[in-house]
Amino acid sequence: MSNILPITAETPIQFARGVGPARAAQLMALGIKLCADLVTYYPRDYIRYEGEAPISTIRPGEMVTLTGTLIQTRLIRKRPVRFEALLDDGSARAVLTWFNPYGVDEKLSPGTHVRVTGKATAFDGRIQIVQGKFEVLEALEGSRPAAGPRIESIYAASEEVTSPQIARIIQGNLDGLLGGVAEWFDGAFIAERNLMTRREATERIHRPREMREAQRARRTLAYHEFFLHQTAVAIKRYHQRTTQKALALRVDEKVDARIRALLPFALTAAQTRVIEAIRKDLAGTKPMNRLLQGDVGSGKTVVALYAMLAGVATAREKQKGEIEKQKDGNAAKPQDSGLKTFRGHQGALMAPTEILAEQHFVTLSKLLEGKRVRVALLVGGMPAKEKEAVRRELAAGEIDIVVGTHALISDGVAFKSLAVVVIDEQHKFGVEQRSILRARQGTGAAPHTLVMTATPIPRTLAMTAFGDLDVSVIDELPPGRHAIHTKFTTAASREEVYAFVAGRLKAGEQAYVVLPTIDEGVLDLNSATGTQQELQSGWLKEFRVGLIHGRMERAMRQQIMERFRQHLIDVLVATTVIEVGVDVPNATVMVIEHADRFGLSQLHQLRGRVGRSDKKSYCVLIGDQNTEDSVSRLQAMVKHSSGFKVAEEDLRIRGMGQLIGTAQSGKSDMHFADLLFDTDLLGMARRDAFRMIATDPRLLEGGHEELRREVLRAYGETITLADVG
Ligand code: ADP
Ligand code: MG
Repeated sequence: MSNILPITAETPIQFARGVGPARAAQLMALGIKLCADLVTYYPRDYIRYEGEAPISTIRPGEMVTLTGTLIQTRLIRKRPVRFEALLDDGSARAVLTWFNPYGVDEKLSPGTHVRVTGKATAFDGRIQIVQGKFEVLEALEGSRPAAGPRIESIYAASEEVTSPQIARIIQGNLDGLLGGVAEWFDGAFIAERNLMTRREATERIHRPREMREAQRARRTLAYHEFFLHQTAVAIKRYHQRTTQKALALRVDEKVDARIRALLPFALTAAQTRVIEAIRKDLAGTKPMNRLLQGDVGSGKTVVALYAMLAGVATAREKQKGEIEKQKDGNAAKPQDSGLKTFRGHQGALMAPTEILAEQHFVTLSKLLEGKRVRVALLVGGMPAKEKEAVRRELAAGEIDIVVGTHALISDGVAFKSLAVVVIDEQHKFGVEQRSILRARQGTGAAPHTLVMTATPIPRTLAMTAFGDLDVSVIDELPPGRHAIHTKFTTAASREEVYAFVAGRLKAGEQAYVVLPTIDEGVLDLNSATGTQQELQSGWLKEFRVGLIHGRMERAMRQQIMERFRQHLIDVLVATTVIEVGVDVPNATVMVIEHADRFGLSQLHQLRGRVGRSDKKSYCVLIGDQNTEDSVSRLQAMVKHSSGFKVAEEDLRIRGMGQLIGTAQSGKSDMHFADLLFDTDLLGMARRDAFRMIATDPRLLEGGHEELRREVLRAYGETITLADVG
């Protein structure tokens, strides 16, 4: 009727067509407060009605309409009371069943012509329809034709409002509301990407004429969600790049050759490629922000070293105090010129555990033995005096590379001139850490940052959760590596497992045995302490069985790691303290007891402690076969050797939220976008968004107003509002 006020997005739901005060209250309970909320109250599913079809062509699961004659009926009074009829349409027969058939039996009897609609199931080799909707026909011929195929949208309902009622309200108001759906892109842009316009997609998500249309509408809306998010990311990045200045570190060929000469091996093609990208980043005055993904054992550490040495090899301008000191002293002294007085910038490598930090320190110290580069360690467990000394030397610029844990970002650590920060195993660090190190770096310039992860984050997730980082991948293992032989067995075969371990030890190799707990506890689990004793006095008597865990004194732990490295220990029984980074190439066997207690990515990390040489390596998972879930998880480990596959599997099992954690910023509701499956859309949206921000960083151009409003609405808290003015 023409006297009804036009419905707009801002109209309270109570004034929507077909909604009164009572219904409005019910809809509000579902979060539908304004008419605009009707538009985004998306269907959670669809039912496709196939339309009328001969019984012989129908497959179970389809929603169908059948027309025919009943040839047999019966009422079964035993509970549950039900009415059954046999329908014949000339092609085959189908069973129609109604439970609690109030009056159905009165309307239907043999000879009745009926049309029935419902979901086809299989029953006794026949097609059956339970609780179908039916109408009695006068005759089969000449009756009004049945409805053709159609799709019904299914909405999340409540006790008070059913899905069909919600559908009716949405359908009744949608036409008036579609005009308010603003387009972000022009028609050509949309067509090029084989998407729908935003308006069309909004209409078709509610009213698909075929399933493929619903699919395209979903893709279109998912693209828009990704685009919005990536626009926020692009704005943030643009801001960082234009306002933060870093020191330009130019690695010339001579320095490059000198760094490579430190390494006892040739870099792989993948390492070289990543290093090239890093060299390019470092040469600019925009701070590098790079995420390096590489499976366990792919050789990320030397890439980290390279990046840090680029800073150390670049001369820093002598600061006032130093210059004066030289003047006061004998500036002309020959040893004060040239190499001896060379002062470069600093590098910091941050690891998530003390064990890993200590190992990195050992590795780097060995590689840099006899060189001018001064490396130091800074971890919480060090004596206060030593820590104090390291802090002092860092501030004075007397240390070139510092390796540490969280202690690096604790109070009191300041740098003389921190040029490169490497964060190993990012999944254990929050994004804040990066900015803290940035703030401490000494000269006011932002350090270049390289974030490394060996728990491979699916690329899509990396782009989204860590969306402000460039991503590099080392997709190749050093030459000569074999896939790690992985086996899954139960505690019943422990003896066999350890007999196998003994065999490898006899051959001069080493092994790890990992347990979930340090001591026997309330949980009836084997522990590290108990297993060490058990193995040392039993199956592995002839060998040296060591123990390491997180509650140990630091000095003790260091000593044990060193003894294992030097092969003074054959088997190291451990908790997950050795989960990340530990690198002892002679170790070839990893036994994990109670493997079902660990997450998939964690298992993959642990497995990565072996397979670090050209020797054949093994991973034995001892686990419960109690639950289907644990079996399928452990089988995924056997099946996949690539960390990327394992991570995907993990993602599927644990869900996205866990992995994104707090790194996911913004309260955006990614309703349609699926990070795991819409990779192509995300890639496309990312390219498009970055391109748009490159030409219109503040979204001020004509046609971008709506997008700008939406970005601010969804991500205003995470991108500095000032960024977009
Ligand atoms: P991750 O990527 O897990 O941190 P690491 O950096 O610990 O891997 O390297 C794993 C092992 O491979 C180390 O023993 C390292 O010395 C060795 N390695 C790294 N790069 C190469 C290479 N190009 N050729 C041979 N061995 C390499
Ligand atoms: Mg590592």
